Amino acid sequence: MTETGFQKLKQNKVKSFEDLKDEVINNNKCCACGACIAYCESQNFNVIEMNRYTPEFKSEKSVDNCTKCGVCYYICPQTDILIKELNDTYCIEDKIGRITKILAAKTTNNILEKIGQDGGVVSAILAHLFEKHKIDAAIVSEFSDNFKPVPKIIFDKEDLFKSAGTRYSISPQIFPLKNLYNIPQNILNKNEIFDIDQLRIAFIGTPCQCRAVRKMKFLLVKPAHVIKYIIGLFCFENFTYTELYDILKIETNVEPTNIKKTWIKKNFFIQTKDNKKFEINIKTLNPAVRSNCHECDEFTGRFTDISVGASGAPEGYSMLLIRTEKGEKVVNNMLSKGIIEQLIVPSNRTIEWKNKKLEWYNKLISLKIENQINSN
Ligand SMILES: Cc1cc2nc3c(=O)[nH]c(=O)nc-3n(C[C@H](O)[C@H](O)[C@H](O)COP(=O)(O)OP(=O)(O)OC[C@H]3O[C@@H](n4cnc5c(N)ncnc54)[C@H](O)[C@@H]3O)c2cc1C
Ligand code: SF4
Ligand code: SF4
Ligand code: SF4
Repeated sequence: MTETGFQKLKQNKVKSFEDLKDEVINNNKCCACGACIAYCESQNFNVIEMNRYTPEFKSEKSVDNCTKCGVCYYICPQTDILIKELNDTYCIEDKIGRITKILAAKTTNNILEKIGQDGGVVSAILAHLFEKHKIDAAIVSEFSDNFKPVPKIIFDKEDLFKSAGTRYSISPQIFPLKNLYNIPQNILNKNEIFDIDQLRIAFIGTPCQCRAVRKMKFLLVKPAHVIKYIIGLFCFENFTYTELYDILKIETNVEPTNIKKTWIKKNFFIQTKDNKKFEINIKTLNPAVRSNCHECDEFTGRFTDISVGASGAPEGYSMLLIRTEKGEKVVNNMLSKGIIEQLIVPSNRTIEWKNKKLEWYNKLISLKIENQINSN
């Protein structure tokens, strides 16, 4: 970590992991992004670990290893600290955030079209960045045999086929960065990576996870310095893996090992490996919603370069909200090369079309906040 950003912002009393425990973790506000552990472990402080999606001290002895540097508290997406500075820096004035361009698009790659969740745009962006040598790696979410999300750093474009699609439970996307400085030598050799600090990674995550990455980058703390692109996924809510699949098993008798795809369109849908389809009333899944999601006021991901989601898009397309020049450059490049295909809106309807989308996203965010007020 350079001292510039962080030292300037340090309060008189720096809060540390004990405060993070009191205010966030023990208050069920932790979104299991893994940022605190990624930072602390990458510095070899040997203090905290993830225990079933909950950060905690490794042992009684490891409590003494804590330097009380406070970085974990500052970068946690669930603490209020730094949000004002981030909003000022990224010109965020409302709940949707700064948007320079809105469009609906889909991949023109036949395989990604089949396996992508919606328009296959997220995987197409990553494939494009790999092909153009703009990135050396990407942090994606793969999944185990039982459909459990597994966050992973991939170095090969071909591995994108293992991560396309959505798994609706927590994938601690920042967690793999804890091992940034321990990437096996054979992987480094194979990918001609000679200096880890020069690595260029694209990050995919939910809005809360993208917020953590932005905080880390704002403070210039490692290991987020290697993240060059932040691609966010729209997110209304997320689920606890065990509770979600327990309910789905009761409702449909389908084992997670037999699930091919899940999606949400008002209700929750399952497609099995033998192509049976099940619809489950979304309200049935309320007990499985993660408690931190009940306090979330993000939907489209304010702190990204590009945010992608299905909401507001026609079938087979994804909506793209572009927020930074960097994001705009990537998307324009992909459009000009025919890597993604834009939904054409008649020019006399463009403004009305965009306004309608924004109105819809604002409505969804208000609904989220309304639900929180009603449940308190
Ligand atoms: C928990 C969750 C909730 C969502 N809720 C909404 C919603 O309410 N409304 C909406 O419009 N869109 C939502 N999305 C986004 C949507 O499901 C698609 O991811 C998005 O439309 C992009 O589709 P695509 O075809 O372009 O992506 P693809 O090309 O299929 O790529 C999908 C990417 O998502 C990543 N991914 C998969 N599962 C996870 C996970 N659990 N955590 C982090 N990354 C993951 C994969 O690594 C992959 O890179 C949600 C996504 C997640 C993960
Ligand atoms: S050493 Fe710093 S980052 Fe690690 S737990 Fe302590 S306060 Fe947090
Ligand atoms: S940084 Fe992420 S994993 Fe750590 S306490 Fe905050 S939300 Fe949880
Ligand atoms: S609803 Fe909010 S807190 Fe929950 S996973 Fe999505 S972005 Fe994170």
